[in-house]
Amino acid sequence: MTTIDTADATCTVLSPEDDGWDEARATFNLLDDQRPELIALPRDAEEVAQAVALARNAGLRLAAQGTGHGASSRDTLAGAMLVNTSRMTDVEIDHVARRVRVGAAAKWEHVAPMLSERGLAGLHGSSLDVGIAGYSMGGGIGWLTRRHGLQANAVRAIELVTAEGALVRTDAEHHADLFWALRGGGGNYGVVTAIEFEVVDVPELTAGSFFFPVDRTAEVLRTWTPLLPTFPEELTTWVTVIHFPPTPDVPEVVRGRSFAIVMAAHLGGEEEARRLLRPIQDLGPAMDTLGTQEPIALGTLAMDPESPLPYRSTTALLDGLPDETIDAVAEIAGTGGSLAMLQIRHIGGAFGRRPADAGARATIDGEILVFGLGVPMDAASDAAVAAGLGALDDVLEPQTVGEYPNLVEHPVDASRFFDDATWQRLRAVKAAWDPEDRVRGNHHVPPAAEPAA
Ligand SMILES: Cc1cc2nc3c(=O)[nH]c(=O)nc-3n(C[C@H](O)[C@H](O)[C@H](O)COP(=O)(O)OP(=O)(O)OC[C@H]3O[C@@H](n4cnc5c(N)ncnc54)[C@H](O)[C@@H]3O)c2cc1C
Repeated sequence: MTTIDTADATCTVLSPEDDGWDEARATFNLLDDQRPELIALPRDAEEVAQAVALARNAGLRLAAQGTGHGASSRDTLAGAMLVNTSRMTDVEIDHVARRVRVGAAAKWEHVAPMLSERGLAGLHGSSLDVGIAGYSMGGGIGWLTRRHGLQANAVRAIELVTAEGALVRTDAEHHADLFWALRGGGGNYGVVTAIEFEVVDVPELTAGSFFFPVDRTAEVLRTWTPLLPTFPEELTTWVTVIHFPPTPDVPEVVRGRSFAIVMAAHLGGEEEARRLLRPIQDLGPAMDTLGTQEPIALGTLAMDPESPLPYRSTTALLDGLPDETIDAVAEIAGTGGSLAMLQIRHIGGAFGRRPADAGARATIDGEILVFGLGVPMDAASDAAVAAGLGALDDVLEPQTVGEYPNLVEHPVDASRFFDDATWQRLRAVKAAWDPEDRVRGNHHVPPAAEPAA
């Protein structure tokens, strides 16, 4: 255990030999093996400031983590202190103002049930296990995005400890440059201590899934794809291929079986949802779970993995899905392939609308988002997963118009996620607030040579 070189310091800081080290450096992807020099476990903003001071004194870089869901896209932690904020999960909800304030490591599961009870929902993604901080700062997309836009656009304030150790509150009126950069530039600007954001009314929700045997994937996709232009923004549908493992934690009805699943969330009544989805129903699903739901149902609709697992993934934003691509995708996702899950998400609508006061990541291009995932258990299956993901990339390449950074789960040159003007502005703000490049978020933004004026 390291003593912080600051008077009256209380923050717990672990060294590799300390109890709790492996738990504190763990991530959601069990293939990650983060090895920082030290790990701080602050309980509040004051302790975050203590940790930042210690890192500065020790000449260490800084990287923050709340849940470890987005760790795979970060560079090495050699020479860095990991600030693990997992103890900072405070939640304050103002139901009347539809406004929420959370600590740095609050997950969507910490707010969604309370919101749902009052007919409200946050703009969360497919899994409530994901942390609000990393999700929001990378963009944040889910079932309500076609109608309500990205979560980054719903953020109203972010508080952080800067690389210099100052506790700063940013919003539209205060440090607006930094507030802009945090909403898209992620964890590159300091250690975030709290986030405030707006949530939306969900007066009526119909949600559920149509399950088809996996050998009908191409037929399902050929029926689904032409329907997309007819769907209103209130309806979001995905086709997800899942090979459910034969393990006891999986519900018996799907255990060990493989399906092409049309998942739907409709901000409206069941009759209208069924009318819009009639061609899918007419295919005769093996199971149909569509029905009236509370907003909390959106947290499990995608059937994402809920516990840490070893995995590799790939993703792409597409401008369409022609029939020849559908056939190749169905082949790769099928029973002979190596992918455990393939999500094909309909996007568009408010994904492409930029609000006036937006940050660095306000919109996402394309009509369809693909996310494929494989679970290697040994060297042989690792090679098969890599081949399957590579084949998927090749097949999608002609339709690919970009990538959504939150789902790019390996280190890349982050300039590819932004137009040049946005990238240069992100680098200028970085130079103004962290010229020594001390803070390393996932998808690194390096400082510009000259700080912003
Ligand atoms: C099962 C699963 C489902 C997902 N579904 C979706 C989805 O539907 N839509 C979507 O948009 N994304 C989705 N994601 C991606 C997710 O949004 C990213 O992985 C995101 O980075 C997770 O944020 P986190 O805070 O939970 O993770 P962490 O690993 O804790 O943080 C990720 C990054 O955020 C930054 N960060 C976190 N905390 C702080 C802090 N206190 N200060 C400064 N920087 C910080 C850092 O750069 C850090 O590297 C999913 C991920 C998983 C694993």
